[in-house]
Amino acid sequence: MQRFGDKVAIVTGAASGIGAATARKLHDEGARLLLGDVDEARLDIVAKQLDPDRVGTFNVDVAEIEQVEAFTEAAITRFGRLDIVFNNAGIGSYGRTPDLTPEAWHRTIAVDLDSIYYGCRAAIPHLRAAGGGAIVNTASISGLGGDAGLAAYNAAKGGVVNYTRTLAIDHARDGIRVNAVCPGLIETNLSRGLISHQKLMDAYRERIPMGRAGRAEEVASVVCFLASDEASYVTGTTLVVDGGITAGTGQPWFTRVFEGD
Ligand code: NAD
Repeated sequence: MQRFGDKVAIVTGAASGIGAATARKLHDEGARLLLGDVDEARLDIVAKQLDPDRVGTFNVDVAEIEQVEAFTEAAITRFGRLDIVFNNAGIGSYGRTPDLTPEAWHRTIAVDLDSIYYGCRAAIPHLRAAGGGAIVNTASISGLGGDAGLAAYNAAKGGVVNYTRTLAIDHARDGIRVNAVCPGLIETNLSRGLISHQKLMDAYRERIPMGRAGRAEEVASVVCFLASDEASYVTGTTLVVDGGITAGTGQPWFTRVFEGD
């Protein structure tokens, strides 16, 4: 299926994990793409597996507005238009408030939240010029509630969720749809430390109804749905990809206690 045969897309955080998987899927379904990341070496490895006539790379730090503007302009220069924006680059952050340095707080907000504003600010005029388009922002289930010790990350991702709603309202009549994807635990470089932590993974298996971490490709499918015309009446929503974690209320698992399953 060539859902993106006539589309131009930009993807940040494309060198790894969810961004790389989404870049591959957009490419395989026909899109022309500019891939951005700070990790040039890894980005080149991803791009080398794709058609060079349809794929370019760009070294961009999404926490720097001028760099995000240059990245977006580079897509227009190369492909002449812009239809799909996947604002995905992000970093993790751990620490309770008294232990978080202002530098760590600001860096998390800059990479995980400011970047979304920079990306949308740069892209929206081009999407309007193309007669509309689709923006997908990577939030997290950590944007839907609090997590012990993830103060800055929760603040940033909560911001992404609510900002996505406002973007959707503000630009619906420009023909621009804006949605967020909220992954749970997904196996990527970002979560490697969590997944290799035995005690944490035992706790995760208890908490995830599906009993496993997700794969980057399982998030990429959802991103591509939101970016495609199949989601033509979907805007301002958050699509959760978490194996069921947030379906629970947080109460104990009654059947496990009463029936041992
Ligand atoms: P990843 O580490 O595999 O990929 C993230 C990519 O972003 C890397 O290639 C990295 O170089 C790039 N990046 C980091 N800082 C950047 C910057 N300042 N400018 C440009 N690029 C930068 O991680 P991932 O899991 O694929 O993460 C992608 C997104 O998914 C992030 O926003 C993350 O918060 C979110 N997320 C991940 C999980 C998970 O469990 N993996 C869960 C929820 C949300």
